[in-house]
Amino acid sequence: MIDLLVTGGTLVDGTGTAPRRADVAVEDGRVTEIGDLAGRSAVHAIDVSGHVVAPGFVDVHTHSDLTLLSSPEAHSAVRQGVTTVVVGNCGLGVTPVGDSSHRAGTVRGGDAALQDHLDALRKAVGYLDLDPSVRWTWTDLPGYLAALDTARPAVNVAVLVAHTPLRAAAVGFEDRPADAAALDRMRGMLADALAAGAAGVSTGLVYAPVCYAREDELEVLGRTAAAYGRLFAWHVRDYADGLLDSVRQALRVAAATGCRTQISHLVAVGRRNHGSVARALELIDAARAEGLDVAFDIYPYLAGNAPLSQLLPAWAQEGGDEAMRARLTERAVRTRIRDEWRDLPNSWDDIAVDGRSVTDLAAAAGTDPVDVALDLVAEHGNGVQMVAGGRSERDLLDALTHPAAVIGSDGQALDPGGATGRGTPHPRSYGAYPRLFSEYVRKGRLGLAEAVRMCTSAAAERAGIAGRGVLRAGAAADIVVFDPARIADRATFAAPQRYPDGIRAVVVGGRAVVEDGVHRGARDGAGGPGEILRIR
Ligand SMILES: [Zn+2]
Repeated sequence: MIDLLVTGGTLVDGTGTAPRRADVAVEDGRVTEIGDLAGRSAVHAIDVSGHVVAPGFVDVHTHSDLTLLSSPEAHSAVRQGVTTVVVGNCGLGVTPVGDSSHRAGTVRGGDAALQDHLDALRKAVGYLDLDPSVRWTWTDLPGYLAALDTARPAVNVAVLVAHTPLRAAAVGFEDRPADAAALDRMRGMLADALAAGAAGVSTGLVYAPVCYAREDELEVLGRTAAAYGRLFAWHVRDYADGLLDSVRQALRVAAATGCRTQISHLVAVGRRNHGSVARALELIDAARAEGLDVAFDIYPYLAGNAPLSQLLPAWAQEGGDEAMRARLTERAVRTRIRDEWRDLPNSWDDIAVDGRSVTDLAAAAGTDPVDVALDLVAEHGNGVQMVAGGRSERDLLDALTHPAAVIGSDGQALDPGGATGRGTPHPRSYGAYPRLFSEYVRKGRLGLAEAVRMCTSAAAERAGIAGRGVLRAGAAADIVVFDPARIADRATFAAPQRYPDGIRAVVVGGRAVVEDGVHRGARDGAGGPGEILRIR
């Protein structure tokens, strides 16, 4: 007996081949047949005439490391058609916690040094940490994967090992290079995690303490990833005036180590850098022509989202979140930052916190934007998020239409009714994928089959996820059904916590998680159908 039959739709199978009429049959979580299946009976049948049937979207770039433990239903992700997420991007991640010199197993009492380290790490990755009630009990990748297994999320999850916890464990939070022994510890911790099924490693060279890493440290990460054939994802050092030099560094490490390389969210920040994306793509094309395995991800918006503290000079972030916050109350420090910020690529008009520009916040408070920004970070540390705009549509189109582009939301799985649903997050967490189809496919700037490929098989291939991102017999039954005439994001910068239109059904592992605009609940009985992926 067929468990699920999706009939009457137009199949866009994820490989980039042309749409065609086909029904899809599912048994035991897998696609078993594709073709004309009229007259077949099934436990559950959905008639989707007029709709596209595609592989569920594989979000290669997310920051849902902790939000999935707060809300395993993954509402904002699954409601936009995402069935698999990759966490641990931008060098921000949750494992390892400390190195083997101070621990074994889990964080439960008795080890004060480890608890202190965990507290400092949790603040360093405050960007991920929207729900303080999430219990962080693991120290290593197997422990974190087990926590995800227990949470039973609605989506499949693959994990990148992040540079921040690696460097925090091996070097600490100070501005100093990793010596030979520290490099060796990082190599060992990363190799252990890759052997345990991590999809790769990520760096984030604007965030402390990773911003203190020299290129030899990045080569160690690249060489270790290459030994396992896994991905090295780069939030490069500078997306503004230094974009091209920063991309060159990633390509240099790729050439030196042979690692598979992913440039994260390829954008140019600051109006004076409009046009730089095309030049970065030329560098990537040249590297690909030489045989390097280099690609990049992108989300379809003209504004980004990051911790506000990312704007601070590296010296001001040294020593961890607490040290940074204390430093920002000193008059001499503020004067020096004010001086360095004269050359900031973004204007304060283009930077918003909680939905209001820093310029507006300053006017309302009767002070100036620099003081507003410094006060926010001094008070709230790395947890303050900014939305930074002022990007070029031409740059975005150049990236979206490049053959090495894959779509990654750079968002988080959020629950608008829960602890992760507060404030005004970037709308990409709710609408990145629908927006690609409404703004770029429906307006004729991208083909339908090509757009689906960028959201599915191309993304799965980058992350090394086998058997997903395509619809064919034997593949995992991760499916999104959408109306190509109606699919659209409704989340805006002013009102981001809104689900999109036009998503008819989302199936994960053969189970309909979303149907007719209703999330059927990841926690009903057995929990969510998502699989915690161990990459081999
Ligand atoms: Zn990111």
